[in-house]
Amino acid sequence: MTLPLRDTSISYAKGAVGGSATVIHTQRLEDGTLAVLLDETPCHPLDVGWPDQGSDQATIRTRDIAFDVIDCVVGASDGQTLYVGADVPVRRGAEGWAFVVVHILPADAELKEGAEVRIDVEQSYRAALSAGHTGCHLASLALNQVLADQWTKEVRPDALGNPDFDGAAIESSTILEYGSRDVYRLGKSLRKKGFPTESLAAHLPALQDALNQQLVQWVASGGEVRIESHGEFLTDLREWVCELPSGTARIPCGGTHLRSLSQLTTVAVGLELSEENGALQLTMETAAVTL
Ligand SMILES: [Zn+2]
Repeated sequence: MTLPLRDTSISYAKGAVGGSATVIHTQRLEDGTLAVLLDETPCHPLDVGWPDQGSDQATIRTRDIAFDVIDCVVGASDGQTLYVGADVPVRRGAEGWAFVVVHILPADAELKEGAEVRIDVEQSYRAALSAGHTGCHLASLALNQVLADQWTKEVRPDALGNPDFDGAAIESSTILEYGSRDVYRLGKSLRKKGFPTESLAAHLPALQDALNQQLVQWVASGGEVRIESHGEFLTDLREWVCELPSGTARIPCGGTHLRSLSQLTTVAVGLELSEENGALQLTMETAAVTL
C-alpha cells in the first residue's frame, strides 16, 4: 500500500480522452468496490467541493481484462489514509496533502499496484458535458450582462467587467449533457449587496429575450475556447478562456470544454422564478446545441 505524496497528473484539461497509466494504489472501500489511483488520468472526477461537472464514464484495461469505472471522484491523502469524496477532511490544496483522482471499480475488479493500464473515456458523453459546460459559462456571463444596470451598489466585476450576479447569487450549478442548470438565491444578502430582487419578476420575459439575443451574437462570433493550466496536477489553477467580441473572458474552472464557439449552433436559456423555503430563487436552464 503506497499512497502518493503528490496530486494526480490530469490530462482531461487538455482534452485527452485516453492514455496509458501506472496503478500506484488500490484499496477496497467499505462497500467492496475497488478504489484505484493512477499516476496520470484523462478521467474527469466529481469534486464534492464544487460538484458542477460530474464523473466521466471510462474503462480501465490491462492486457487481459477491462473494468468499467463506475464512479470517479476527488479524494485526498495525508500519506497514511485515503479519504474519498465527502470524507476528505481538508480543503483542496491543503499543505501536506495529495489530492487525487479516485477511480471506483466494481467489487469483482482486481488490479495490482504497479500494473500498466490503458484508460479510455467514453467520448460522446464527454463531448456532451463539454458542450454543456461551455454553454453554462457563456450563459452566466450573458446573465451578468443583462442584469448589469439593475445594481444599485458597486459589486465585484465578472470576467467581462460586468457586476458579477452569477458569483454573488449562485446556489448550485449542474452541468448536464448539452446543457446546464444554474440556481440563484435571491435572498436578503443579495438585496443588501444592492440587487433589487423584488422587481425581477416584472422584467423576466424581457431579460430572457435580451439574454438569448446576446447568446446568439456570441455563438455567431465563433471565438476560440481554451483551458489555460498553471500546472499538470489536479489542484493546479486552470482557467477557461474564451475570446468574445467585447474581450477575452477568463474564469477559474476545473471542467472540460469545447475548443471553439464555432462548434455550437445555439445556446439558449430559460429563466424561471420560484420560492424555496420562503426565499426567492432564479433557475436558469441552458441548452447548448453543437453541430
Ligand atoms: Zn466551469
